[in-house]
Amino acid sequence: MSATCAICSRPIKWGELCDGHKKRQQLGKVVHVELRAANRTPFQVLADAALTFADADSEDDQAYDRAADNLGKAALNYARRWAKKGGRPPRFPAEHYAKVLAAVQEAGSIRAAAKRLEVGRSTLHRYIARCGS
Ligand SMILES: [Zn+2]
Repeated sequence: MSATCAICSRPIKWGELCDGHKKRQQLGKVVHVELRAANRTPFQVLADAALTFADADSEDDQAYDRAADNLGKAALNYARRWAKKGGRPPRFPAEHYAKVLAAVQEAGSIRAAAKRLEVGRSTLHRYIARCGS
């Protein structure tokens, strides 16, 4: 048996309303509204904020400012998440470590190996420091 909210279809443990609608009732807000989906990705939050900002009534200063503020926060959060995953991919994947090390030993020096592999010396130093330990 699984009970669901009287307004939306979220599962509930007791009562008639889900936590989100219960909270709205508690705060004296309009209860019969659709709640925003939980677990939205930063991109979905940003897209929703952008649409809300585009639809915001420019005559209503408070709503307009709130939409602009939400869009700014969503964009910042999205940029932060993106920055963690973003950036340039590594020149050599970690599993090529043995091959790269063999190339360095064969060339005799990092400088010669870097020239042969057509990368910067610091790229090679960084790679060895990152993968070698
Ligand atoms: Zn509900």
